[in-house]
This record gives sequence, C-alpha cells and structure tokens, in this order.
Amino acid sequence: MKFSEYFLPTLKETPSDAKLASHKLMLQAGMIRKVTAGVYDYLPMGFKVLKKVEEVVREEMNRAGCQEVKLPIIQPADLWRESRRWDDYGDEMFKLSDRKDQEFALGPTHEEIITDMVRNELSSYKDLPLTLYQINDKYRDEIRPRHGVMRSREFLMKDAYSFHGSQESLEETYRDLYDAYARVFDRLGLDWYAVDAPSGLMGGSYSQEFIAVADEGGEEIAVCDECGYAANVDIAAYKPSEDEAQVELKELEEVETPGKETVAAVADYLDVPGQKIVKTFIYSTDDGYLAALVGGNDELEETKLSSHLGRSDLEMVSTESEIEQVTGANFGSIGPIGLDIPIYADADIKAMKNFIVGANRNGYHLKNVNWERDLEDAKFTDLRRVQEGDRCPRCGDELDFYRGIEVGQIFQLGEKYSRALDAHYQDEDGQLKPYLMGCYGIGISRVIPAIIQQNYDEDGVKWTEAVQPFDVGIIVLDDEGSDVFEYGSYLYDELSDRGYDPLFDDRDESPGVKFNDADLIGLPVMIIIGPRGMKNGELEVEFRAGGKETVKIDGVPRGEVADRIGDLLNR
Ligand code: ATP
Ligand code: MG
Repeated sequence: MKFSEYFLPTLKETPSDAKLASHKLMLQAGMIRKVTAGVYDYLPMGFKVLKKVEEVVREEMNRAGCQEVKLPIIQPADLWRESRRWDDYGDEMFKLSDRKDQEFALGPTHEEIITDMVRNELSSYKDLPLTLYQINDKYRDEIRPRHGVMRSREFLMKDAYSFHGSQESLEETYRDLYDAYARVFDRLGLDWYAVDAPSGLMGGSYSQEFIAVADEGGEEIAVCDECGYAANVDIAAYKPSEDEAQVELKELEEVETPGKETVAAVADYLDVPGQKIVKTFIYSTDDGYLAALVGGNDELEETKLSSHLGRSDLEMVSTESEIEQVTGANFGSIGPIGLDIPIYADADIKAMKNFIVGANRNGYHLKNVNWERDLEDAKFTDLRRVQEGDRCPRCGDELDFYRGIEVGQIFQLGEKYSRALDAHYQDEDGQLKPYLMGCYGIGISRVIPAIIQQNYDEDGVKWTEAVQPFDVGIIVLDDEGSDVFEYGSYLYDELSDRGYDPLFDDRDESPGVKFNDADLIGLPVMIIIGPRGMKNGELEVEFRAGGKETVKIDGVPRGEVADRIGDLLNR
C-alpha cells in the first residue's frame, strides 16, 4: 500500500476525550471514528486489523470442528418471549417494531435464534453433537458505552453454540473450545488468564471468562500461581480462617453507641478493630426476608449469596422505613439477634468469638456475641468478596490479584434454552429429550484495544505479529523522481512480490512526520532510505521493538538487498 493513496487520517494531537491509551491510539492512528456514543466507523487500517483478528478466530474454530453460519440481526420478539428473556434482558436490548407493529430485537446474542433454527432439524441422537458459529455484529444498549470499541453498542463477536445428547459430550466440546480459545489468544499474542465466572444473563451451570491482563481493565481476577486456581473476584472463593484458639466466651452485653452508625465509628468508639464487628444486611425475597452477615472490614458479594441460595429475586432492603419494620432499628444499629428470619453468615467469620453486632435498638450494639450460644441457627457459606492477603481455596497458597479485560467467555448452558424453546431430540430408546447446550463468545472488536493496552509506548502502538496491519514500512526521505524515491519504490515492488505486506511512505512530508506516523501506527520494521545513506551506499533498518541494522547497497545487486531485508523481516 502507498501511504499517499491510503485513507489513513492520523492525528497529530492526542484526542482529549479518550481516557485509555488503546482508545486514544485507535483514534490517533486513524483506525476508528466515532459516529455516536458507542457506535464507530472502522477506517481501512482499523478494518484490516479487525479482519486479521477475525481470521485467527475463524481458523481455530474451523480447526476445532465448528461450522460457520450467518444468523439474522433482526430477531422476532416472540422467540425471546418463549425463552422469557424479552423482559429479563432489560434495557440493554435494542427493541424495534415494523410497519405492522410486530416487535423485534437487534440481536444482543443468538441463543434463541440458533435454538429455533436447529429445533426442527436435529431430531435424532445421531445428529448430535453439533457446533455452529458465526462472526457477526451484536447490539447492546450499554448503560455506559466507553473506551471506544472496548465497550460499544454495536460490536463484532464470534459466537458459537453447541448441541449435545449428554453431559459428557457437552463437557468434551467445552474442553475442545477452551483449547481453541487458548490457541486463539496465544496466537494473538495476548497475556491472558481463563477464570471461573458467573453465568449472568446467559444462565447455565459453569462458565469461564478469558481475561487479557491490563491494569486499566474492568474485570478483577484472583489467581493462584501454585495450583492454577483462577476466578473472577465476583465469585472467587477463599480459604476460611482457622478457629481462634481457645477463648473464653464472655457474657453478652448491650452497650451504648450513640450516633455511631458505621463500622469505623463503632469500632473507634468501642476501641476495637473493625473486624471485631459483624455487619448485617437484610434482603427481601418473594418468600420473605433474610439476613446476610460479613466481617466489619469485608464486602458482601451479592453474586455469591444469590448463587448459594439459587435465587434471583434478592433485593437489599435500603429504605429506613422498611429496615425499621424488619429490625425495629435504623441502619446504624441493626443486627441478627432476635430476628425471626433465616441468617446466612460468611464462612470466614465462623471462627470469631466475642464479637459485636447491632442491637436492633437505636444507638446500641451487643458485645461478646458468640455463634453457638446466641446465633445457633446461622448457616455458614462463602459470602464475602475475596481480598488482598486471602488464601487459595484449593491449596492455601496466597492469591494474586490482577485487573484485566474480558475478551471471551464460554458457558455450559445445559437445558435452559432447549427446554424453554421445546427443542428435543429422540434418544437411542426413542425418548424425547431436550438437548444440552453450550455457548462460546469472543469479542473480536474488543480484542484490538486489549492487544494495544498490552503493547504500546509513548510513541504509539506496538502490534503483535498476528495482527500487525503491515509487515514493514519503507520510508523515503526525498521527493518523487530522486534516486532515493526510486530505490524505495523498487524495494516496495520487490517486497510485495515476495509476499510481504509493505507500507510505502511516498508522501511529500517531512522525515519527522513520517517517523512519527510509522511509530504511531506501529510499523514493526522501518526501512529508511535517505540522501545521506544513498551517498554512503547504505540504508537503515529500524525495529519498532528496538534495535537497528545497516544494510549495504553500494555495489550490491538490488535483488540481494531485497533478500537481505527479507531475512531481517523473517528473523
Ligand atoms: P461485559 O461483562 O464486558 O459487558 P458480557 O459478559 O456481557 O461482557 P458476553 O455476553 O460474554 O459479554 O459476550 C462475549 C464477549 O463479547 C465478551 O467476552 C466481550 O469480549 C465481548 N463484548 C461484550 N460486550 C461488549 C461490548 N459492549 N463491546 C465490545 N465487546 C463486547
Ligand atoms: Mg461475558
């Protein structure tokens, strides 16, 4: 490609409205332009990189035995009503209607559509298993679209769906696709972890996310380097503390804590560490209230509570009037003792003795509370968020915490969609059974900012090999018609003929502009030909990753120079 002819509008100034380096650089390098919030144009170089990511994903999906299809973006509401997700999906779904007032969604995901497609076709166990995938746009009306194509409202996803006659078959495909994902993210050059994840809106029993490590990422993960345990912190488990050594159980005592409404204030007033206090949260459910308890310095993880109880109707009581009606006190003084509701306590505080809780009387707390004596009906389970210093639930080694970007997620869905949509097959004994399903997504658009977030410097992008938009840049520091330009032009043709993808910077621009653009767009190698070099009989080869070489051209046949450059590109 000749730069002078390429639609590559690089910007001199850093865009001020972008926060993340990847967003800034994609705008600055002329890859994307914003149309409206969360909706972007891809310009030729941005689109070229997108296609490269897409191709790596496609190759690995095909290699894993998946078959490519293309499903509609416009999806009838009735299908979503069948799965009961028309309402459940909420405001993230773009909804529209046609001239006859029929309702539709712009597909945020395709479980309904694909299950509808196969339910009439896969009628026998002999048709299973089957895995289909597509690479297609998705539409989600994100509350906060941000960071450019990292979280946009229209984005490209690879989504695959598998259909099975047994749990073993589902697990086998799930493992195969896990391996395919590992190959995809390795080939793309990402530094990534696969972590246990909540299933969220997709539902199902088991799920893992693929997280590209990045300090600015929106996900937080806990990882054990010793045994390989890895989980999203929303569900990560920990090894509970050992029982406190033999401690004498003291007498329960009500103490005044006037106006002390927070853990810190109560701890300070009673002169105890915050962790000596147990916090109480009250939840309402369709079947009444319940209490959840965690340590004073801990954070209750609602995802854990709802998955432990297997219910999605939990709502934390958050108004003064309701909390008073349930406990008889205001928020600052609530506690578990004397409440006639189920009590769930975090497993880590089971070891505590003589601790403090609210007294359910305004301005009072209870001291020297003990489980066996005062709260014998409390049930213990993992309820709090993991934190720095926690130990691995499997091996007890210390957990490490990282931030990252979710680039993919895989789910064992089970029968959720096949049951809802009446999608059955006939097993060996002639019995009708719902298929077991899996689904598997990769955020193709999001992979690009993830790669950049891991590979950039103050000058611009440093692409990984699999997605670099060009193999090499040829920078000529003289005008058209000069020997310098002519030599560059020759090398451009020669390298193109040899199968490389060079960008020839033939623009009438200063060397400074050309070098800046080369670094900004991330040319992995620059061949620099200038009048001085020409006179000395040499050209310079500079690597984006660092390092330089000088190639002699004086008295060397041009073909040999091209060979030498080819060697440098292949090394
Ligand atoms: P997130 O939690 O980031 O909103 P998700 O869990 O809702 O994502 P999935 O339904 O698992 O997303 O979709 C599969 C993949 O699509 C995600 O792993 C992510 O890489 C990508 N993705 C999801 N939402 C967006 C978005 N708004 N913009 C770009 N990529 C996205
Ligand atoms: Mg996800």
